[in-house]
Amino acid sequence: MLDTPNHSNPNRPSPQPGGANGNLVRWGVCPTCGVEGLFHFHGEQRWPERVADKLGMKPLMHLWTCDTCHTTFAEPTDTP
Ligand SMILES: [Zn+2]
Repeated sequence: MLDTPNHSNPNRPSPQPGGANGNLVRWGVCPTCGVEGLFHFHGEQRWPERVADKLGMKPLMHLWTCDTCHTTFAEPTDTP
């Protein structure tokens, strides 16, 4: 008679986009090298509102780095 212990762990942590700091990655097509691949979240960039307005950007931009050509992009974010 075999008594097999159950080692399965249903409580595995899963990555949450936009959540805690950590390895935040995203899949997409790079406008520079044209390769579909991973982008790594690099941090955020804050601008004074009048500067952002002049540049046609949002006060809060998220920086993403292409895993293929290592170009960093600023993506506008919608924050109040
Ligand atoms: Zn690229």
